[in-house]
Amino acid sequence: MQKRIPERQCVGCQELKQKRSMVRVVLTPEGEILIDATGKRAGRGAYICPDQACFDRAKKRRSLDRGLKTSVSLEIYDQLAAIVAATSVGRGSGA
Ligand SMILES: [Zn+2]
Repeated sequence: MQKRIPERQCVGCQELKQKRSMVRVVLTPEGEILIDATGKRAGRGAYICPDQACFDRAKKRRSLDRGLKTSVSLEIYDQLAAIVAATSVGRGSGA
């Protein structure tokens, strides 16, 4: 039997996607918010597709704040924007 692929809900588009294909933002037990490239940090996580449209929606709605149940600084959103931009390169979102 194949293992079930873990899925998580994107805070932007609200769709369930494969965890591995997503970017995880974590609220550590110390109260620090980090973008978790390894996906293995302890803490409450929120997931987003590395997609500009998802990011824009999440930022507009402050969805990460809701997902992590804390206030997420704009600095984190900026860091996430850079990662999303780097990851979604080549999708031709019309520059
Ligand atoms: Zn999404």
